[in-house]
Amino acid sequence: MAPYNDVAAFHDFLRRITTATNSNGTPRAPRILALCGAGLSAASGLATFRGSTAALWHTRDPMQLATPEAFAADPGLVWRFYAYRRHTALAVQPNAGHYALAALARNVPTGSFLCLTQNVDGLSPRANHPPESLRRLHGSLFDLRCVGFERKGAAHCDYSLQDDFTEPLCPALATAAEGVDETATATVAARSEPLAHIPVSELPQCPKCKSLLRPGVVWFGERLDRQMLKDIDKWVAADQVDLMLVIGTSAEVHPAASYIGEAREAGAVIATINLDAESREGLQNLDPGDFAFGGSAADLLPVLLEPVIGKLES
Ligand SMILES: [Zn+2]
Repeated sequence: MAPYNDVAAFHDFLRRITTATNSNGTPRAPRILALCGAGLSAASGLATFRGSTAALWHTRDPMQLATPEAFAADPGLVWRFYAYRRHTALAVQPNAGHYALAALARNVPTGSFLCLTQNVDGLSPRANHPPESLRRLHGSLFDLRCVGFERKGAAHCDYSLQDDFTEPLCPALATAAEGVDETATATVAARSEPLAHIPVSELPQCPKCKSLLRPGVVWFGERLDRQMLKDIDKWVAADQVDLMLVIGTSAEVHPAASYIGEAREAGAVIATINLDAESREGLQNLDPGDFAFGGSAADLLPVLLEPVIGKLES
């Protein structure tokens, strides 16, 4: 058996599953699942959530701001925090890893590739990843949703908007668009007067029911979108899975982690692409025939996927 990090062996495997035929000779579409984490966006210059929490959150405790309770208590403060996170994500560019996955989605038959991402940074959509093959497990900084979404009865409002890259979203959030994080601990400490309260009427507003809009991310204490999870389960269970790419994530968080087990049960070969994929811990859960490539997803994905996507234009 070829070693786990043999690129030529991976290419052979990829060619085999993308040119397979059914018993009657008709082409058999491959079934490829990907799970992406912060490591995919690291090469774009975005701080990873787990790797350097302080860098991403500017030492502010996310539990104070990334919760429904915080938003209910002071939507203006939470919006300031998210306006700055939107700004940071917009200040960087998708990398070759995002483009390679988007190219994979375009180069296999529709429905053959499902890409699950834990990232909320909007970089996959900005790399033109076809939306039908992308599932944002934790939502997106660039999605907006009416606060009436969770309400029942007459107060329910189903308004939501995906991939709105407008900056600033409204005049009251313009400071974040200038690169100032008004909620950062250092900024708070340096300020002589308390941060001015933003009235609800000056925050992003639902065009349908005039309620407040909120960032379309999954907050601490919130569930992932149930329908999305159902759809993913359905896709995994529908047939044999040929390949699962685990990219830039240690996959320790549920439900992301369980997809690896489910894909394996569905017959998938697992290929891990991660900085520490070839470390002792990284190799621990490897089955015979699985692949592990230690390195940056931005460097590795274009090379690994080349038999299907060709050479990426740089
Ligand atoms: Zn509404």
